[in-house]
Amino acid sequence: MFVGMGAAKVRDLFKQATEKAPCIIFIDEIDTIGKKRDSGGMPGGNDEREQTLNQLLAEMDGFDGCKGVVILAATNRPESLDPALLRPGRFDRRIPVELPDLVGREAILRVHAKGVKMADNIDLNFIARATAGASGAELENIINEGALRAVREGRDRVSQEDLMESVEVVIAGYQRKSTVISPEEKRMVSYHEIGHALVAAKVTDAAPVHKITIVPRSSGALGYTMQVDEKERFLMTREQLLGRIATFAGGRAAEELVFNTATSGAANDIEQMTKLARSMVARFGMTDEFGMTAMEVMTNRYLGGDPGLNCSDETGSRIDEKVIQIVKSGHDKAVEVLKGNMDLLHRLADFLLEHETITGEEFMDIVRQYSTDETIVKAVEGAADQASEGVPHLSLEPVPNMNAHSSEDEAATR
Ligand code: ZN
Repeated sequence: MFVGMGAAKVRDLFKQATEKAPCIIFIDEIDTIGKKRDSGGMPGGNDEREQTLNQLLAEMDGFDGCKGVVILAATNRPESLDPALLRPGRFDRRIPVELPDLVGREAILRVHAKGVKMADNIDLNFIARATAGASGAELENIINEGALRAVREGRDRVSQEDLMESVEVVIAGYQRKSTVISPEEKRMVSYHEIGHALVAAKVTDAAPVHKITIVPRSSGALGYTMQVDEKERFLMTREQLLGRIATFAGGRAAEELVFNTATSGAANDIEQMTKLARSMVARFGMTDEFGMTAMEVMTNRYLGGDPGLNCSDETGSRIDEKVIQIVKSGHDKAVEVLKGNMDLLHRLADFLLEHETITGEEFMDIVRQYSTDETIVKAVEGAADQASEGVPHLSLEPVPNMNAHSSEDEAATR
């Protein structure tokens, strides 16, 4: 309320800290006072905040190694901090807390599982493999959901199945068995999902199918395909990206081939494949036309990032053209794959329609029995071999589909 209060409080804080040393000062959300001081701007606009920051900087300068006071601060927006704060001598060290990798996820699951009664045969490593991209809080939630499910079913221990089900709950929401979907719509969803899976099997290096289900979920998803990768991926090649784009197009392609129409269910697929194509052109330098020019720059990189266009309007429209072209060729590829495997598409979709869920093994059996396409059989079997040999990496690549609520998908795929 009064200018100068913030600075006085900072002075007082450091005075107390020095008296109580050794101690740790922890400042949460430091960006609220540590934002970049803008040059120019409105006169007197943020005087109070700047004075507080100046005081903080001054106090931190006066530190020496033997005072026994450690300053720890946290922020979600490191790029917005004033550069003076980040200089050595103020904050000496930065510790980025990124999303956990496979080893990290397993360790986090282990920590949260400690207070919960688990069955003896629990394989937390598998759960970790199935949750690529999950945050620590989401992993905690998975354990909690598993425990709730066990209690609901009157058991006193959490089983592996409970945990797998809660992975799906966290990715796609609760099963909503009460939702009534007309048989015709259900048929469309089945073909849509199988379309994704078949194209995924055909294109290079796609993650093998772990499970496909058409039980509606509370997130609005009418069905989804869970793909399980054999290893954690940090890089993607141009070919893999094009494969991903074709896989996203697979759902719509199946609708077109079988029902000769298009549904709104592909909205999320379309969004995702367009995003990938745009990144290929404007950020990854993967096209001949534009070469290695960065036309899109990520800001706020720490938590996902927001892309901003950094080129002339004319170039912008050329990028759009290229993006449309890539998406189109992905779609063509998907149609081509499905056209060559119509018999398989029908059989798999029939099975899924009847059982509502198809596991990786069942998928494989049908492919083995009826496929005339060597590549698909090999792709599917290769995946099975890896699984049975116990290759330590399998990570889930959720492709939530038929979903009108894309914002929730974002959360799930993040
Ligand atoms: Zn889809």
